Amino acid sequence: MKIIDAHMHFSNIDSFKETAKKQSKLDYSYNGIIKEYDEANVVLGIGMGLVEKEKEGFPDPSAPTPMGLDLDERIPTSVVYCAGINPYNLDSHALQELEKTLHNPRVVGIKIYLGYYPFYAYDEVYQPVYKLASKYELPVVFHTGDTYSERGLLKYSHPLTLDEVAVEHRNINFMMAHFGDPWTLDGAEVVYKNRNMYADLSGLVVGTADDIKRYKDSPRFFNHLKHALTFTDNYQKFLFGTDWPLVPIKPYIEFIKEIIPVEHHEDVFYKTALKVFPRIKAYL
Ligand SMILES: [Zn+2]
Repeated sequence: MKIIDAHMHFSNIDSFKETAKKQSKLDYSYNGIIKEYDEANVVLGIGMGLVEKEKEGFPDPSAPTPMGLDLDERIPTSVVYCAGINPYNLDSHALQELEKTLHNPRVVGIKIYLGYYPFYAYDEVYQPVYKLASKYELPVVFHTGDTYSERGLLKYSHPLTLDEVAVEHRNINFMMAHFGDPWTLDGAEVVYKNRNMYADLSGLVVGTADDIKRYKDSPRFFNHLKHALTFTDNYQKFLFGTDWPLVPIKPYIEFIKEIIPVEHHEDVFYKTALKVFPRIKAYL
């Protein structure tokens, strides 16, 4: 089965490098991702544009809009990306730069970092971004759930706060990153209710293959996730993603395969990504 990784990272961020070294124990580099994608039959990855100016600065208020991928000068041909938004930097110049970037065919969506930046999805500050998303028919991805930084503020990344945006912008498709974990049942309701809301299943675990196995085999750790998936009762709304480098690719695929009924693998691992990110068809 060919697989699309709808959520990964390829940015020069200290906390990702630290995690790759100490927790997930993988090679966070150009060669590293090519090798892991090859071995797991991942044909395309969607990188989440993110930049930190200050060392250990993420979430960085001084980062530019748009944010791209800057781990290495070379970006693998199998990686496209979502342009990252810094809400502190959305003046007319930044919006012009963002619009210019959206003409690049390798930009397949827009990423908003709820919780990392203290604004709700429905805040006025993001309205010009939704206007551009609508004009270029691009999806908007929201970080939701736990923040991978103590400096994040969880109230802004709760999945229930996406409902209003989904209602007001019916012509835009949205992807709730991490399915709002650990508030997956709230996330499930927002996905279930709104035809334009999808969710990715990335980043539900951080660590090595052994860590994934330990969580997966625990009788209770993923009960909330399984409950939420069952509640939505529509596997065409979910996309596979890894959040690499937070976990190695292949063991994470095996884990998601186990919690998604086999008749829905084609949708979750491949087809739904084509629906949500129409531009990626050019790379497959
Ligand atoms: Zn991520």
